[in-house]
Amino acid sequence: MIEPRPGLGVGGGYHSPQLDVAVRLNTNESPFGPSVELLDKWHDEILNANLNRYPDRSASKLRQVISDYHGVSPDSVFVANGSNEVIQTILLTYGGPERRSASFEPTYAMYETISRTTGTNYFAFERDENLLIDTNKALSDFDENSIDVGFICSPNNPTGLLEDLDIAIRLSGDRLIVIDEAYGQFNEVDSIQFAKGRAELLVVRTFSKIWSMAGLRVGYCIGDPRVIANLWSVCLPYHFDTSKAKLAELAFEHVDEMEARVGFLRSERDRIMDFFDTIPVTYWRSSANFILFRPDSIDGHKLWEMLLERSILVRDWSRWPRLDNCLRVTVGSAHENDLFMEAMSDIL
Ligand SMILES: *Cc1c(COP(=O)(O)O)cnc(C)c1O
Repeated sequence: MIEPRPGLGVGGGYHSPQLDVAVRLNTNESPFGPSVELLDKWHDEILNANLNRYPDRSASKLRQVISDYHGVSPDSVFVANGSNEVIQTILLTYGGPERRSASFEPTYAMYETISRTTGTNYFAFERDENLLIDTNKALSDFDENSIDVGFICSPNNPTGLLEDLDIAIRLSGDRLIVIDEAYGQFNEVDSIQFAKGRAELLVVRTFSKIWSMAGLRVGYCIGDPRVIANLWSVCLPYHFDTSKAKLAELAFEHVDEMEARVGFLRSERDRIMDFFDTIPVTYWRSSANFILFRPDSIDGHKLWEMLLERSILVRDWSRWPRLDNCLRVTVGSAHENDLFMEAMSDIL
């Protein structure tokens, strides 16, 4: 039988095991769904949508709504099925066999995976001992290796740490720097305002976290209209369907709902970090809806197993390079967080 094309490394891919547990705190989703009121409006819209027709190919209404929200022009907005597809479209357009992409490890694994599937040569550079990007080292890494597309995740997954965004400008030059702000809104930084008017910077956002709609698969990016036009010409025709466009549009009529949820999760995150101050763990101060931590006195994987025995699932990073013994907990509902903290107190 014919083999997949060389270099794909099929069989690996994105991997976050979903086990059947009572408390699921492993994939940074929101514990709360969108409101019934919003879903009702969506339902009415769907009844009136002409599903026999192809969708509006450029999702113009949604782009208008997104651009109003961020104070940019509609031609600065590209939308796709989750920010992973946005990243894929960026690499289909600006990556490829003659191009080089890079990021700073540990970071979101999809930069490497999507680089591989698009045939782009990916370079993994090191961070400093605090797991932040060292600007001078990054500059020489990018220059010496002629990087074309760089990914900066801020706040970074899995550390939760904000990067100093000036680094994006320092690194840009002729290359494209993609700022992945999947967890924007869980902190005070707004990369979209920061990147405004800078042609080499693209900011990627998603509906999967702050908007509580990981199941909807909506992501977007904002950047220079010339870059955005290129993305629109590379993506598949009608890639963005009518029904999700409607829900995403309606979501922007419920911004206060989103802000209330995010505000609550931020306070819960701070509550968990305060708790971490009282037990034998080391953790990184998070600006997102998850916290990376390392138990001081027991093996990380062992702790992961003991939590699992209590039907609590967190993300196990304990065997990853640079993250020895680390686990990552997603902020859940107050009850879920209580159960997590009780279990941690018991075990440690
Ligand atoms: C969760 C996450 C995403 C989301 O991807 P979607 O395809 O939009 O669900 C993107 N980037 C980072 C860093 C993430 O952690």
